[in-house]
Amino acid sequence: MKKFFALLLTALFLLTAPAQAQTVTHIDAAADRAGESAEKFYATLPQATGDYKSRRRPILIEGAMNSETGTLVRALKNPVAYRELNWLFVAGTYKNYPVVVVRTEQGVANAAASTALAIRKFNPIAVINQGTAGGHDPALKIGDIIVGASTFDYTAVKTAYTPRGAGIDITQQKMRGTYAYDEATKNFQPRAEYRADPTLFNMAFAAANRNGSFNVVSGVIATGNAWLQGIDHIAFLHERYGSTCEEMETCAAASVCQTAGVPFVGIRILSDNININRDYDPDTGVTCQEFVLLVVEQYIDAIVNRGAAK
Ligand code: SAH
Repeated sequence: MKKFFALLLTALFLLTAPAQAQTVTHIDAAADRAGESAEKFYATLPQATGDYKSRRRPILIEGAMNSETGTLVRALKNPVAYRELNWLFVAGTYKNYPVVVVRTEQGVANAAASTALAIRKFNPIAVINQGTAGGHDPALKIGDIIVGASTFDYTAVKTAYTPRGAGIDITQQKMRGTYAYDEATKNFQPRAEYRADPTLFNMAFAAANRNGSFNVVSGVIATGNAWLQGIDHIAFLHERYGSTCEEMETCAAASVCQTAGVPFVGIRILSDNININRDYDPDTGVTCQEFVLLVVEQYIDAIVNRGAAK
């Protein structure tokens, strides 16, 4: 009998207890696997019929997956869904300022293409690419947030010539960089790294200091269409290029922003760190979005509302 009541109480608790944020976390993380419930949610939003119009240029926030965009989209007031070549964009306002969230999908091609489309469609004043990342720095813990002072594509290399049978030695590679438009020479030039817009970078730390509940560090975001698990490989990138973490989108979005002349910063949370044997935790994507909303608020307060940026 006692057992029965205990079960009943547990069932009642489970039915009533989950706070909204937790439910959202779970649904979005699961949706990335099932690809279903998030689509149902997006179908309930008003769907755009015409072109985007806004008196003020919006802030564009990017995330690759539902678990990296759901919290942002739900924070928007008057959200409207736009679709372009099967990418999803949601435009609304946050703290009375226009904000657009794009679900870039995973990988460099998707990040670049959706960023270019979003710049054309929404004419953003600034772009924040954010989401999860794997740790290259053994000292960093799951949940630590990296504001990218710079980002680079760790696959953009020329390897050293070695004859057949000599084995593979990545330490002999030379960085070539990825190509973006260069205002000075008026053509596309290779760059070994893309640096954050100083204002956006500073706003991230101003937000971190104001709030105090996130562990935020400056770092180097390494991008590639790969998931590295070789500890020596990771240590090499960390030591040679100073990489703090790896993921699959930031540098691609940064290079498009460089080409288009739009201020950019990458903000990544550690979801996994193989150096310390920690596997991917999708819930970290929610924490990152919560921090990014603070950064956006700081940016709106300090820059946009005071007219320092046009
Ligand atoms: N669908 C998987 C998670 C995808 S991980 C799951 O549910 O377990 C790949 C995505 O997360 C990419 O968009 C990338 O930017 C980011 N990411 C997080 N940790 C990464 C790592 N260690 N290496 C590469 N990408 C990582």
